Amino acid sequence: MYTEEDYIQLSSIQHYVFCPRQCGLIHVEGLWAENTFTTKGKILHERVDTGEDETRMDRRIVRGLNIYSKRLGLSGRADVVEFITSNNEVVPFPVEYKSGKPKDNISDLAQLCAQALCLEEMLNTPVAEAAVFYGKPRKRLQVTLLQELRAATENIIHEIHQMIETRDVPRARYEKKCDFCSLQDQCMPRTTGSKKLENYIRGIFTTDEETS
Ligand code: SF4
Repeated sequence: MYTEEDYIQLSSIQHYVFCPRQCGLIHVEGLWAENTFTTKGKILHERVDTGEDETRMDRRIVRGLNIYSKRLGLSGRADVVEFITSNNEVVPFPVEYKSGKPKDNISDLAQLCAQALCLEEMLNTPVAEAAVFYGKPRKRLQVTLLQELRAATENIIHEIHQMIETRDVPRARYEKKCDFCSLQDQCMPRTTGSKKLENYIRGIFTTDEETS
C-alpha cells in the first residue's frame, strides 16, 4: 500500500508509454510545455470536466470524478464514469475522452484500465468494460478489460514508481515521435543523446583536469 505523497498521476501512464524520458522530464524534473496536441487535449478535457452530471435511461453520468488506488499508488480524475443499473446492481463504466484518433500504442487503453482498477478498489466492485471516446473520427471504442491489459497496466505503473523513486530519467534518443513531443525543446534529443556531445563534454573535463 502506498501513502498519498507517493501517488503518481494517472496522466503519467500516457507520458510513460509515449516516451519514458518524457515521463521522467515531467514527473521527476517537473518540466512541462504545451504544443498543439496537448492544448487540444486540455480544451477537450476542460469541456468534458465542466459538463453537468446527468441521468439518462439506465445510467447516471458523472463527470470529472476524482479517483485513486492505494494499492497501486495512483490518483487522478476520470473524465466520465457512467454508473449503469443492471439487474438491481450498479456497475461503473469509465469513459476516457481523447481529441485525436486511436493510437498504435497501449497508452489510451492503459490509462483507461488504470481508471477501472481505481474504481474497483474504491467501490469494491468489478469493472469489466470501459470505453474511449475519440474525436477524430468521432467514435466510442468499447474495451473489455482483459487480464493481459490489466497486467500490462500494472507493470507500467510499477515502472513509473521505480523511475520516480530512483529519479533515474532515461537518456534522450531521437525518434520520429520526438517531432510530436511537447518537450522537444527542453529535451533536445538530437544533441543530448548524442555520443559526439558526450565525448565533447568529457573532453572539456579531461582537458581541465590535465591542465590544472
Ligand atoms: S523529445 Fe523525444 S526523447 Fe525527448 S522526451 Fe520527447 S519523445 Fe522523448
